[in-house]
Formats: sequence, C-alpha cells, structure tokens
Amino acid sequence: MHVPSFIYLYDGGKTESLDLNEISVYLKNIFKKTEVQIRKEFIEYCISNLSSEEKEKLIDNLAREISKIKIRKIEHKNLKFEPLQGEIEYEKKRLSSPENKSFGILYDGFELITILSKLIPKEETDFNHCHIIFTNQLFATWDEEDMRYHARVSIYSFPSIISTTGIVEAPARPREFYLKKQLGVDIYTLKEEFKDRFIDYDDPRMTEVMKGYVLQAIFYHITGNPFCEDKNCRLYNAHWQEEVIQTQLNNKNEFCQKHQEIINQIRKDE
Ligand SMILES: [Zn+2]
Repeated sequence: MHVPSFIYLYDGGKTESLDLNEISVYLKNIFKKTEVQIRKEFIEYCISNLSSEEKEKLIDNLAREISKIKIRKIEHKNLKFEPLQGEIEYEKKRLSSPENKSFGILYDGFELITILSKLIPKEETDFNHCHIIFTNQLFATWDEEDMRYHARVSIYSFPSIISTTGIVEAPARPREFYLKKQLGVDIYTLKEEFKDRFIDYDDPRMTEVMKGYVLQAIFYHITGNPFCEDKNCRLYNAHWQEEVIQTQLNNKNEFCQKHQEIINQIRKDE
C-alpha cells in the first residue's frame, strides 16, 4: 500500500463552514509522514505564478472550455453546444474573481476533471501527490441505467473533486420532505422540521461530513476503491441525506472493522 507523500487540499468550497485546517489536522493524525498542504482555490493556485498576459490567455481558454461542459439537458448525454459569448464571459468573470460563487449551473464532472487535470504542475503529476479540490461548482455524471445525469458530491480521480454545493443538492432528502413540499408547506418550515435529516448550505456540520469524503478520495488514490458497503463506515457511498448523516456524523466508530484495521496499519507504518 503506497501512501502519498503529499496531500493537497484546495480551498474552493466558498463556505465559512468548511474548515480545511481542521480537516488537515484530522488527516495528519492518520497519515503521520504525509505532508498535508492547504492551498488556494485550485485554478487560482495554478495560475498564480503566470504573468498577467499568460493568466489572461489561460482564463480565456478555460472559460471557453468550461462553458462547453455545462449540462443543458439532464436527459441528454454530452450534448455539447457552442457556448454563447455571454456564457463564456460569465465563466471568465467567475474564474477571474475567485470569491464569485457559481449558482444554478450543472457541469459534466468527468469533463471538468479532464480540464482541471491539465493544470496540475508537472512535477506533481505522479502518485506520490494526491490532489483534492474543493469547489462550490455543482457537477453531475451520466448514469447509463436511467439515462440521465445525476448531481454528485464528489468524483474520485486524478485530481479528485468534492463539491460543497453537491453535498446539499446531490443526496436525496427524506421522502416526507418532498411530499410536504409538494403539499405546499413553505421551505423555511420544512428546513426547520427536517434540519437533523439533511445537510444545508453553510451547514455547521460541513467540516465533519467532509472528513469522510476526503478519506474516500485518499482511499481511491491508495487502493483504487474509495467505497465501503457498510453504512457505519465513513467510506460508505451515501445516496440519501440521512445516510450522509448516519455515516459521517452519528456513527460512533467512524469505520467498519476492516477499514479501521487498514487505518491503524497506516498510522503504525507511517
Ligand atoms: Zn468500511
């Protein structure tokens, strides 16, 4: 088992409730010999050493590429449109001022990773380096079974991406929530009633929840398999909000026995 020497956490989640320092301390307690670095938002970090001319050119290209991977129709795979000038300008603006949030746009997650992967510094492109990008962009992947895109919390690859918007929007809320919403109960009343049963925007539980997603990304990096079948393990692939809360918050042992042993082994070896 090869544990990477470097883990980079990119701070693009754009929510005060995500504390990367706390996550980094948590990781250092497991991966004792690994250097855990917190970096700026990924694209901002990657372009920080370029001249202003190079920066401008790269942002122009990125804006064009990223506006092409917007998902226009949830039930159409890879329907690539030539983006409108206004859409390219929107992305340019978002990329040039990292404090801008992206609202209501869904991107193709694998295409996004392809675009981002080209920006990783050459000397950090081997498996000794694990890049984990936090973003507030919402992304989705195509599901062959029901022939539509599904929003996702994370995609594990090189680099891995984890979305602070995805954690709110992707796992389904309890069925009663949707039922009551349909019956016309207002959203504030609903959010109050169901607050223990789903993660919301700027949720104070965000950091604790994201520890599990970061570990999934690292397990993917080390073993090729980020997930566990056990609902009482942080590596469980949750599809419902209540499963997220169970696996990441209400689970007093953190890991199943098998993964606890692996984690103990890593702690000892390192
Ligand atoms: Zn497990």
